[in-house]
This record gives sequence, structure tokens and C-alpha cells, in this order.
Amino acid sequence: MNFELSEEQKILQSTAYKFAQKEFEPIAKECDREEKYPRELWKKACDTGLVGAFIPEEYGGPGMGFLDVALLTEQMCRVDLGLSLVVTASTFGAENILFFGSEEQKKKYLPLLPAGEAIFAGAYTEPDAGTDVAGVKTTAVKDGNEYVINGSKMFITNGTICDYIVALCVTNPEVESRHKRQSLIIVEADRKGITKNKIKGKMGIRASDTAELVFEDVRVPRENLIGAEGKGFHYLMHFFDTTRTMVAAQGVGLAQGALEKTVKYVQERKTFGKPLAVNQGIQFQLAEMATRIEVARNVTYKAAWMVDQGKMDPGLNAMAKYYSGECAVWVADKAVQLHGGYGYIDEYDVQRFYRDAKILEIYEGAKEAEKMTIARRLF
Ligand SMILES: Cc1cc2nc3c(=O)[nH]c(=O)nc-3n(C[C@H](O)[C@H](O)[C@H](O)COP(=O)(O)OP(=O)(O)OC[C@H]3O[C@@H](n4cnc5c(N)ncnc54)[C@H](O)[C@@H]3O)c2cc1C
Repeated sequence: MNFELSEEQKILQSTAYKFAQKEFEPIAKECDREEKYPRELWKKACDTGLVGAFIPEEYGGPGMGFLDVALLTEQMCRVDLGLSLVVTASTFGAENILFFGSEEQKKKYLPLLPAGEAIFAGAYTEPDAGTDVAGVKTTAVKDGNEYVINGSKMFITNGTICDYIVALCVTNPEVESRHKRQSLIIVEADRKGITKNKIKGKMGIRASDTAELVFEDVRVPRENLIGAEGKGFHYLMHFFDTTRTMVAAQGVGLAQGALEKTVKYVQERKTFGKPLAVNQGIQFQLAEMATRIEVARNVTYKAAWMVDQGKMDPGLNAMAKYYSGECAVWVADKAVQLHGGYGYIDEYDVQRFYRDAKILEIYEGAKEAEKMTIARRLF
């Protein structure tokens, strides 16, 4: 077993971290306070080669793997989760095209991502269907050479700023199995009949764009169907199994960033005439934080590595995402506590990390959904 990263991977880590330090740090507080999505940051990340790392060379990408994506995601999240999503989630949904799209679709859409020419959104959740995603009600009805889409989608990342939406729609309502009624369809975001309502007031990741999308008689050509009709739910499960390794990496990076800020703070802050750091009670807390992060990192890297080896293990990916999300929430809580009153004030980054961390237990399948996957493997 070889735990050593390659020289290329170490360079990738350092490039991503330096990029985040230079580009995220000066704007992180402002984007959080004002819920501001910085589009120019996404462009800079594309120019630096940090977007669409998983896209094969034949489609204009660098042809890296999902472990590489995890590595660069982790490094950016050490600085800020919300802004890291502006970069890494700009491809969200397009992975379905890589996995299941036709050759024409791959040639048409995938090169746009690393080139900084298109942002994607993956629209699956609905107001009444989140964890139970097979319960979606948005319909896509065939009419000549087109699909006519009606329905609404909730909490869609990049909803108001994207160029393309990959939407989960019911195309085969008559089929008995509720998991064989849906299809994934590419929708150009400027099509007539789409209303985009930005969702404001999020607890965290406020730089990331989130929206409700309403489709009213939205017409798209039938060639926009990804793969086969009726397979959308199964495609989506494969998509989540893969992208959960990226969310797991977000948790590792956020927790690592919170730990680093806290290690620095406890050496500077004095109580009873000496730095906080000399107290064993403080050191033990830092040791526990570091240990949980290392465990989360190892399961995340293994899960992503398995994806790259073509041996994807959905149970392991679910463990990585669930454990790392919980680890991030736990570590961020400790970080605020060890900062005392200052940790509660937005001048100090740890309070933002604390708010940001919670989403890691909710999106891309709440942690209970991951536990369902893990438990299924046990039986
Ligand atoms: C900021 C943000 C960004 C998001 N981005 C996207 C996106 O880009 N695209 C997209 O499609 N969706 C997105 N989502 C939606 C997200 O994936 C869903 O919110 C999530 O899957 C949970 O669905 P729900 O909110 O409907 O909760 P529900 O399904 O109503 O669940 C509520 C709670 O009950 C638990 N629960 C549900 N069923 C069970 C059960 N059988 N047993 C035990 N516990 C259960 C859940 O785990 C959860 O804790 C985003 C959400 C947020 C907040």
C-alpha cells in the first residue's frame, strides 16, 4: 500500500492553496456578509487550471482523477468553503454528461468547463422531494422533437448564474417501478419559461449562489436527453456516489483550516498570565481535532482513489462524506469555543467556518441518506 502522493499531486495541492490564499482571503468576509457571488473568481480559477480537473484531455480538460479533485478541493476549503464552491461546484451536474452522455454531448459541453465558458447546475431536489429524490414531480413530456418541462426545483447551486441545468424530470410516469420513471435532461438556462429566484438568508456558504427554479412549458430538443429515458434515477445515484468524495474533501479542508486558525490563536491568547496553548486541557482538544481530521482525510482519499481505480465503493464514499461532514461540524464548534468570545464575532474566520460546516451534513444527501447507503451494505 502506497500512501505517497505524486509530485504532480503535491504541486496541485500547493497551487490550489496559494490560489485560495491570494484570491479568497481578501474577499471572503465581504462575500459572506453581502451574499455576493464573485463571478470573476471563477474565471481566474479557470485560467489557473483549477476548474474541471476531472475532464479528460480529449474534451479539453487536464485529465486528472477524482482524488486530484479531492486534493484541490481540500486545499481551497482550508481558506473558505463558500468561495471554493464558486470554483469547484461550477461543473456540478456536468459529471452526468461525462458518465452517461453521448459522444456529441461530451464534445459539445465538456470543453466549455475548463475553458471558463459555461457554468452548470444540477437540479434534482424539489420543494417536496429531497432525500426521497425518486419522488420528484417535474415532468418532461415529449412533443415532436422536443421535451416540454413543467415543475420546480429547490436549493439549486448556481441556479441564477448558470448557463446549463441538468434537470431530473419524470418522463415515464406509467412505469411501475418509481425508480425507472425519471430522466436527466440538459436545459439551456436562457430558455423561455424558466424563472430563477435567488434564495437569500443562508446560514453559511453565502458566496455560493442558491436558487429556486420554476419551469413553465420550457421546451428543449430531445437530443438534450442524457443517456436513456427512465435511467435518470440510477444515473443520479452513480453521480452522487462519485461527487460525495468531493464533498468529503470539503469537510476535511474546512476542518483543517479551522484547526490551523485555532492552533495559532491559542499560542497568542493569554489567560492567567500564560498562553492558552500551555494548558493540557487545550492541547488535548487540539489533538482530538487533528486526529478526527486525519481519519476523515484517509477515508476520503481512499474513497476517491477507489473511484479512479474503477472500483467505486458507494458504502465507502458514503462513510467518507458522512464522517467528514460530522468531523467538520465538530471541529468548527471546538474552534469557536477555543476562540472564546472572539470566536463569536465575524472579524474572526472561525465563526464563518462554524456556519459553513453545517451544510456538509445536509447537501448531496443528508448524512442520514449516507447512513442508509452504509447500512444497506451491512445487510
Ligand atoms: C445550500 C444548499 C445547496 C444545495 N444544492 C443543491 C443542488 O445544487 N442541487 C440539488 O438538487 N439539491 C441541492 N440542495 C438540496 C439538498 O441536497 C437537500 O436539501 C437534501 O438532499 C435534503 O433534502 P430535503 O431538504 O428535502 O430534506 P428532507 O428529505 O425533507 O429530510 C429532512 C431530514 O429528515 C432526514 N430524513 C429524510 N428521510 C429519512 C428517513 N427515511 N430516515 C431517516 N431520516 C430521514 C433527512 O436526512 C433530513 O435530516 C442544496 C441544499 C442546500 C441547503
